[in-house]
Amino acid sequence: MHRWWQVWLWCWLWLATPWAWAQGVQLSRLDADPPPAQVLSGGFDRQFIVLAQPVLLQPDKQRYWWRLTAVRPIPPQAQPHLVLRSPYLHRIEVWPTARASAPLRHSLTGMDRDTGFSTRAVVVPLVQGLAAGQSLYLRVEALASTPVPVSIEPLAEVHRQDLAHVGWRMFVLSMMVMLSLLAVGLWIGIGDRSYLFLFLTLAAQMLYLVCIGGEVRALPWLAHWFSADLRMIRLVTMVAVIASSGFVAYYLNLSVRQPGLMRILATANLVMLALMVVSLFSAAGWIARFGNVVLLVILVGMLVAAVVGAWRRQREAYFVLLSWTPMVMLAVLRVGEIEGLWAHWAWTEYAVPVCCVLSGLVLMTGVTYKIQQLRQDRDRASELATFDTLTGALTRTAFEERLRAAVERARQAHSSLSLVFFDIDHFKRINDAHGHRMGDQTLRIVVLRARNRLRTGDLLGRYGGDEMVVLLPDTYLEQATVVAEHLRDALNCRPLSIDGVLLRVSMSLGVAELADGESAEQLLERADTALYASKSAGRDRVTSHRVTTTTARAQGALT
Ligand code: GH3
Ligand code: MG
Repeated sequence: MHRWWQVWLWCWLWLATPWAWAQGVQLSRLDADPPPAQVLSGGFDRQFIVLAQPVLLQPDKQRYWWRLTAVRPIPPQAQPHLVLRSPYLHRIEVWPTARASAPLRHSLTGMDRDTGFSTRAVVVPLVQGLAAGQSLYLRVEALASTPVPVSIEPLAEVHRQDLAHVGWRMFVLSMMVMLSLLAVGLWIGIGDRSYLFLFLTLAAQMLYLVCIGGEVRALPWLAHWFSADLRMIRLVTMVAVIASSGFVAYYLNLSVRQPGLMRILATANLVMLALMVVSLFSAAGWIARFGNVVLLVILVGMLVAAVVGAWRRQREAYFVLLSWTPMVMLAVLRVGEIEGLWAHWAWTEYAVPVCCVLSGLVLMTGVTYKIQQLRQDRDRASELATFDTLTGALTRTAFEERLRAAVERARQAHSSLSLVFFDIDHFKRINDAHGHRMGDQTLRIVVLRARNRLRTGDLLGRYGGDEMVVLLPDTYLEQATVVAEHLRDALNCRPLSIDGVLLRVSMSLGVAELADGESAEQLLERADTALYASKSAGRDRVTSHRVTTTTARAQGALT
């Protein structure tokens, strides 16, 4: 346990280190937007509020002025660059000197994008460097309240970080693409709707990631839609939420297991859908606020569903919880960060895509696990329906099914087919004298001995109680009668030994061969008649039911 804490501490320090490097600058904010000339001349310098952390975070979507002051000299030889990380939908004007008549405009996507650097950050060269105490003014318009860490890095470091960023994003996005394609493929192949919901969730998350991360700028027509205002990203978020709640509802079978919660989720999703339609035509702020409330209802609803499911030991719920908990924790971190409850942690930028990938992987495993379970249950049910649990012989239903198919085949191939019915003599007495357990054991041994006398193609079924039936393909009546005698002999030849008790057991048998135009039921009936003839004649014997002519098969002869 102690060791884990050490690992955690090292990870934290490693992730926090870039922070320490960034402390060479001091950032202050002016909560107003006066004309540039007044700000640049230093007229508002006293009103700037110094921030504890160099993170650009605007309380609302107004335009604000920011001042970046060098704490120590930043010489031009090191090719310093101002780096504004994860600038998402921010439009940044850099006013380098008081004499500047026009600013340098920067943004991640859109007209002012600079494709010379990766989407990690907006990068501005500081060609002259900065003297200690010298300031640089930024005017920022932010469409979304997302934190933008600010630092000054030498060009080599910018390139190094850019390369790492591109590699990392490629990896994460490729994983997302792979998981999405896998989900679609499995949906088409297996037809389980969970995979479709999973695909929609992953696709929406992927779109969200490339918009927030800026990679969308590679497709200018799409980037245009997403950088104009927040409508498109809201739409994508709503699709992701609706798809993932559809996934949870379907995967956890909420309509059956938690119908009350299902109704709440369904209503919230309908409201969300309506909001989606409205947001197509309007970017009004109330849509976002109301949407956030509905979003919260859905998220809490899904979490409750997973917790209740896990509480009831529903295995699928564990997968949902496992994939959701990091996401929820990150969302809480983000909200706290934006609300100013705690400082910004650089690693959260990387944690969101990692969480998307991991949650996709966990859910994919979860769906596959569930399908595997369903298959096992189905196989088990089919086995139970096919084989008698006590003796291992075919059940009556399974036997009759196979008999009908064999009759059909024999008719088409003009081949012979016979049936042997047998029943243990005075079986009730064994039960009465030695108990049911001994009776069960007797049944097992009878079936075992009978099977040992049959060919591999012959079928043995338990017709009910102590009554068994044997299907002999390609067998005429005479041969079947011999087989029946062998079966009788198999039981008669030596007593059964059960728990040290020797039991003499015999059986009566009836044999019939399939006649022209006869059905499986009629054949069974004739074999049964022959069996009862054996019983009536004193038991422990074989009787064959012979059809004299095809037309007069009803008046068969017993021999
Ligand atoms: P008969 O010679 O006329 O066949 O006499 P019998 O006593 O065998 O009579 P019958 O075949 O009608 O009796 C079947 C008995 O088998 C009745 C029931 O208690 C018993 N039985 C049915 N299924 C089971 C079972 O799964 N286990 C045990 N131990 N007994 C069973
Ligand atoms: Mg019996």
